[in-house]
Amino acid sequence: MFDKIRVVLVNTSHPGNIGGAARAMKNMGLSQLVLVDPERFPDPEAVSRASGADDILANARVVATLEEALADCVLVLGTSARDRRIPWPVVDPREAADKLLDQLEGPAAGPVALVFGREHSGLTSEELQRCRYHVHIPSDPEFSSLNLATAVQVLSYEVRMQSLKRQGLSTSFQKPEAVAEDEPPVTAEQMELFYQHLQQVMVEIGFLDPQQPKKLMSRLRRLYERGQPNQVEMNILRGILTETQKAIGVQAAGARRS
Ligand code: SAH
Repeated sequence: MFDKIRVVLVNTSHPGNIGGAARAMKNMGLSQLVLVDPERFPDPEAVSRASGADDILANARVVATLEEALADCVLVLGTSARDRRIPWPVVDPREAADKLLDQLEGPAAGPVALVFGREHSGLTSEELQRCRYHVHIPSDPEFSSLNLATAVQVLSYEVRMQSLKRQGLSTSFQKPEAVAEDEPPVTAEQMELFYQHLQQVMVEIGFLDPQQPKKLMSRLRRLYERGQPNQVEMNILRGILTETQKAIGVQAAGARRS
């Protein structure tokens, strides 16, 4: 599906930015790069900044006009660092990614394009008017213009994130639930035995006054329920309680463990 997402760079001056954009794309699984009348390309500086995304550069299509780059596209989004005072629908990068993916998942899944402007002057009004939506990265208005390759990175990242989410794929290496699932969960009975043991020890060390228990146990229950200890963690907790009892000289502490 990402093969139908085209990144179009218009009149780029610095080949380093072309390489940086290629790297950003490849990191996020995008591959289709189109260069509209670049000032210097191919160029060793582009290869250097691509840091291994050479295939994206080698396959990049160089065209003379934006019109040519966009001819077969069914959806075009143009990025802009500032408000050009032409009333146009503006979306943020996340919404832009959704627009692109909606189009690609729809029945007429033609190529879609993300257009990026010149380092010094961005896209012209005429170029922006070829785009159905304008994409603005909500940067600080006092310093709103990102480096070209960085802007490509932000957009590519959002496309990947939204796509992973739609596929129900994990976006983090290790979810908290996954960690807890490594060991078997504890039963309700084991939790109750733990609370009894905990209460007992707190009385023995003088932390809990049985005449004035207040809300201590219910607060601690809430804490441990939130923590959802597994079997291994429960053994540690019970072990600490038992050792505490040994340390203060309470006999037969182990007998309560079951
Ligand atoms: N002075 C230019 C800045 C261009 S920055 C201007 O005012 O437009 C080069 C390109 O990076 C822009 O054309 C756009 O494609 C992208 N870019 C930089 N900052 C951006 C932002 N905040 N939101 C969206 N695109 C941005």
